[in-house]
Amino acid sequence: MRKITIVGAGQAGLQLGIGLLDRGYDVTVVSNRTGRQIREGRVMSSQCMFGTSLAHERALGLNLWDADCPAVEGISFAVPDGAGGRSISWASRLDAVARSVDQRVKVPAWLEEFERRGGKTVLREADLQDLESFAADSDLVIVAAGKGEIAGLFERDAERSVFDAPQRALALTYVTGMLPRDGYSAVGFNMLPGIGEYFTVPALTTTGPCDIMIFEGVPGGPLDCWNGISTPEEHLQRSLEIVRRHVPWEAERLADVRLTDPNGVLAGRFPPTVRKPVGQLPSGAPVLGLADVVVLNDPITGQGSNNASKCASSYLASILEHGERPFDRAFMQETFERYWDYARYVTAWTNALLGAPPEHVLKLLGAANTSPRVARRFANGFDDPRDFFHWFMDPAAAASYLAAAAGESRPI
Ligand SMILES: Cc1cc2nc3c(=O)[nH]c(=O)nc-3n(C[C@H](O)[C@H](O)[C@H](O)COP(=O)(O)OP(=O)(O)OC[C@H]3O[C@@H](n4cnc5c(N)ncnc54)[C@H](O)[C@@H]3O)c2cc1C
Repeated sequence: MRKITIVGAGQAGLQLGIGLLDRGYDVTVVSNRTGRQIREGRVMSSQCMFGTSLAHERALGLNLWDADCPAVEGISFAVPDGAGGRSISWASRLDAVARSVDQRVKVPAWLEEFERRGGKTVLREADLQDLESFAADSDLVIVAAGKGEIAGLFERDAERSVFDAPQRALALTYVTGMLPRDGYSAVGFNMLPGIGEYFTVPALTTTGPCDIMIFEGVPGGPLDCWNGISTPEEHLQRSLEIVRRHVPWEAERLADVRLTDPNGVLAGRFPPTVRKPVGQLPSGAPVLGLADVVVLNDPITGQGSNNASKCASSYLASILEHGERPFDRAFMQETFERYWDYARYVTAWTNALLGAPPEHVLKLLGAANTSPRVARRFANGFDDPRDFFHWFMDPAAAASYLAAAAGESRPI
């Protein structure tokens, strides 16, 4: 039986580990925290996942919260008009619902599921020496440690990385009591040009259904304002101040909100980074990076957990197809490139959204005000961002798309 060791028990590591177990591999997952520590710890993400990623989980029987987790049925989008109102405001349904299950709920349950299906877990903060002993003892070692320090083993890919500094100051505030928007449930995407973004996502957390407030602040701007906050309650108050001041149309939904729990807050920042996929240990043994370890994007487009699911699914297919052949450096590079053929579009789209929105993008998003077809296409692009490269990313393609959409919607 082929033996595979995965360092990091997150979305990608556990999904891949469970997929491999189901196909008869001997799998060990190394976690630096117990399920209980994760459940009782701080929130890590807003982890909203769209149809394709959820389907990968479902294929492995890992969709354990379909009955309890609020369905996200659409995406709403707004841009302020500078006078307290909105110059753009529309919503569109998703073809397949999205869901956000707090990783503090998901990961402990998946760890139990992994062990129930015969997987072995090792509790430790893996270091280089540990990796050496895993490599000596396994056919393949995969590092799925997210933003963990050990990702530094993988060299930054200067050609594929556009930034070398954080592009947003990030904050999360998990709340209960947020009034639902009118109509169907949705991710609320508020684009505040020059300042950043404010998102809302209905979710399931450790205390039940909740909403997540997500702040993306341009560094040095008014949403880069989390330093010096020392209590969860202050974090909540700062969150409310931001919305009242910069996103006033969302403020009345917040009249009665409370934190879900004292650990329902997070603030931080990191540089989006693409790394080379093969890490070399001092002994010369190669190890393969997975998901955030190798492609770490800013959360502005909410793609990280989706990418983690898609990367795990792609690597699973590569490993299965490889059969009994050795998992050498060439296999590792090829396995990553197969995933990168998808992920490079997500990365390019995400990096583009971090810049000031160009004229053609504002035009498209404005056209969605009156064209349900344009709105629907934008909303559903979150499930597979490759579609944006046909109509959204390039000014000429945007112009011809808009002309075609206008022609078709004109009354005959
Ligand atoms: C503010 C914010 C909001 C986000 N919102 C969204 C969103 O709405 N939608 C979306 O799709 N994505 C979102 N993401 C991104 C998403 O959470 C990540 O991309 C995703 O969790 C990556 O999965 P992963 O398995 O690669 O890594 P992780 O989920 O980070 O898992 C890695 C695990 O490895 C462990 N680990 C680290 N080092 C070691 C070690 N040395 N030994 C053992 N274990 C180790 C870590 O503790 C962790 O448990 C958001 C991220 C942030 C920061």
